Amino acid sequence: MVEVMAEVKVLVEGKHSMLEGKKLSISSTVTLIKTDKNILIDTGAFVDREKIIESLKKENLTPQDIEVIILTHLHLDHLMNLALFNKSKVYCKFKSNYPGQMHNISEGYLERFDLLGDAKIGKGINIISTPGHSLDMVSVVVDTDNGKVVIAGDSLPNEDWVDLKKQPLEMLVYDVDEFNKSRKKILEIANYIIPGHGKMFEVKK
Ligand SMILES: [Zn+2]
Repeated sequence: MVEVMAEVKVLVEGKHSMLEGKKLSISSTVTLIKTDKNILIDTGAFVDREKIIESLKKENLTPQDIEVIILTHLHLDHLMNLALFNKSKVYCKFKSNYPGQMHNISEGYLERFDLLGDAKIGKGINIISTPGHSLDMVSVVVDTDNGKVVIAGDSLPNEDWVDLKKQPLEMLVYDVDEFNKSRKKILEIANYIIPGHGKMFEVKK
């Protein structure tokens, strides 16, 4: 029997743009994984709500068909549309005292699990810890026909961060050393990367 691989589709490309008065306009990437379940990674900004619904419609899906949501981390720009998906189980890693553990909001209740590196969430899906940008940061590794796609959230905000010489401002990341270690780890694993705020790109090996 031919194994059916997971499919990955970017529904919304996140962006970062500077407005007048040094204000930043920010929205996050929203990614659909079709495997044995319908899984969404991050839920983006309010302004992208209609776009998410429209893009799901093209896949013959509604928000109610999304069974699982994985939040790469708990910054607002990645979770604003969470309430659209009220039938989903929501997975995220809270920072604080529970290393390696994830939380699952199931039927409105919180459950706590150890899910890092575990594929039980969906076929061909692995969650890895990639701290640095924030302490609760995780990335999602998906096995596809085109190799491993890593949905990196802000572990790798956009393609510019492939350049390991490029260093973040200390005030903008939780831990610069961890941020750099996490980037390296993702670049080693990934054939393709979907960043938190930009286009999917191929990793040159
Ligand atoms: Zn963030």
